[in-house]
Amino acid sequence: MRYLGRLHLLALLTVVLVTAVGVTAALAWPNTAKQDAPTVVKDGWSWFSRSADTGERADLVLTNGVVYTVDEDRTSVEAVAIRGDTIVIVGSSAEAEKWIGEDTEVIDLEGRLVLPGLIDSHAHATSGVSDIYEVPLYGLGSMEDCQQAIADFVAATADLAALQGAGWINSVFGEHGPTAAMIDEVCADIPAALYSEDYHSVWVNTKTLELAGVTADTPDPEGGIIERDADGNPSGTLRESAMELVAGVIPAYTPEQLVEGLTYFQEFAHSLGLTTVYIPSMPSGDTAALEALHAFDASGAMTIRFPTAVDVSPEDDISIAGQIVASKAAEAGGNYEIVAAKIFMDGVLEGVTAYLEEPYDIRPDYRGELLWDPQHYNEICAALDKAGVQIHVHSIGDAATRITLDGFAYAREQNGPRDSRNMITHLQLVNDSDIPRFAELGVIAVPQPYWFVVDTYYDQAVDYVGQERADRQYPMKSLFDAGVTVASASDYPVSWPPDPMVAIEIGVTRTVPAGSEAYVDPDYETPLWPEECVTVEQMIESFTINGAQAIFKENELGSLEVGKKADLVVLSQNILEIPAGEIHNTIALLTYFDGQEVYRSDQFVQ
Ligand SMILES: [Zn+2]
Repeated sequence: MRYLGRLHLLALLTVVLVTAVGVTAALAWPNTAKQDAPTVVKDGWSWFSRSADTGERADLVLTNGVVYTVDEDRTSVEAVAIRGDTIVIVGSSAEAEKWIGEDTEVIDLEGRLVLPGLIDSHAHATSGVSDIYEVPLYGLGSMEDCQQAIADFVAATADLAALQGAGWINSVFGEHGPTAAMIDEVCADIPAALYSEDYHSVWVNTKTLELAGVTADTPDPEGGIIERDADGNPSGTLRESAMELVAGVIPAYTPEQLVEGLTYFQEFAHSLGLTTVYIPSMPSGDTAALEALHAFDASGAMTIRFPTAVDVSPEDDISIAGQIVASKAAEAGGNYEIVAAKIFMDGVLEGVTAYLEEPYDIRPDYRGELLWDPQHYNEICAALDKAGVQIHVHSIGDAATRITLDGFAYAREQNGPRDSRNMITHLQLVNDSDIPRFAELGVIAVPQPYWFVVDTYYDQAVDYVGQERADRQYPMKSLFDAGVTVASASDYPVSWPPDPMVAIEIGVTRTVPAGSEAYVDPDYETPLWPEECVTVEQMIESFTINGAQAIFKENELGSLEVGKKADLVVLSQNILEIPAGEIHNTIALLTYFDGQEVYRSDQFVQ
């Protein structure tokens, strides 16, 4: 298993669409976070159970465990009982026993930990298809390794019409990226498009450049870069919006293949204890992916919640707000729902496209790419806010985040306060002075704790933006301390696997988990910005109740309380008790969605 693979995807495949939609921010609902809340196991206190005994029986009782409810008091109990898709009791094992009837399935937890079903607040589930149909280049540390992987994949895959893949590491190839000739040596006859692990660049072969008609005469598109050789010929790497130049050359996946990918992802997620995954970015013109989500849900086979955001780009005008309201209404009520507008505010640090307050060290005249005209972004924000649409913004650089928040504030000024719960994700560099604004504006922070480590990305950040900024990447405790709702996310496939146990450990230690294969350099045992370490309880909250708040479902999901949906996970270890450095070894043993068992590890024996 490879930990800490990551890419920052911004725009998976295509386009850095951006836009902003807006929204205002508003009423910060009370943040119920209780830091350092003790784990209290109240053994056998019958008053403690919260249920109405109607004389009916449960379908499922999990008993004799540690059920960390993540309720407001962060209570732990012994047992939980479920009828249909709903929790009917949380309390002592003795209390739960009363709900056991002839047909009740009883699971003896033998002291194991139960958590609410985990929520990943930003993961590109529709990329599951890539895990099936594309050559993985993640973690490969040399050009030769990439070539070998490509050659092996091509040899093993019959009738390949085009080669797709992702995962190559920017730092392996230097500032101008890999070349077409490197692919040509092993795959020249069919078009090839291989995305960098951050999905901000695509590496293509000569066939692709020919089919797409990209030549020395092709100008760099706005917001994009065609890397070139000394003579000005395209060298094989296309960045940001220049990736669109070759998009038409590679055949799109069919809805059937996409459903296959979603089915794969759903099983993968269940095996990690995830029951809700927020899909942050669906190009609204990507009808195949939206159709696939719709069809998958309509088939009845979707046993996961997929709240989904659709992209709004700088080319959109304020009429987009009405379109999204209509899409939301059309998809309401299922496990797949459209919940928000997604906006890309900037690029990524590794692509020198994150938008910074101060210039890059490697380009002293350059602060990165802001993808929006701020005034247009503000107006889109106001329109979306007025329409009641949540806004989910990709922002990496400190200046991008400031402008993102400015748009939310503008929308509030225009429309008045609203419980908008706008989200900002990634948050690699954040101005100290902006952190309280998240709380003021009711903005949810969506970090990827998988990335809070000293590794090759950190080394690159030191090169690109200097030691001082590199050492202050990815705040988290500051956000909790300021009363901000923090909802964690993987950005799968950027982080692979999207295992919340890895993220929980790193959130607590901000250090590469011991034994990670990919990072053996002893320097990587150093924690990244250790002052920002948070508690296990805070990390759990960020994967449960806070994720539920992010989708306005804290009354249905995110904690184990009577009347809520029976989404829960049984873990192999009590992560509240074991040393933090062992959390990543924890596995999901059983996962339930709507009261239905959707995953059982073969390591679960009773
Ligand atoms: Zn993403």
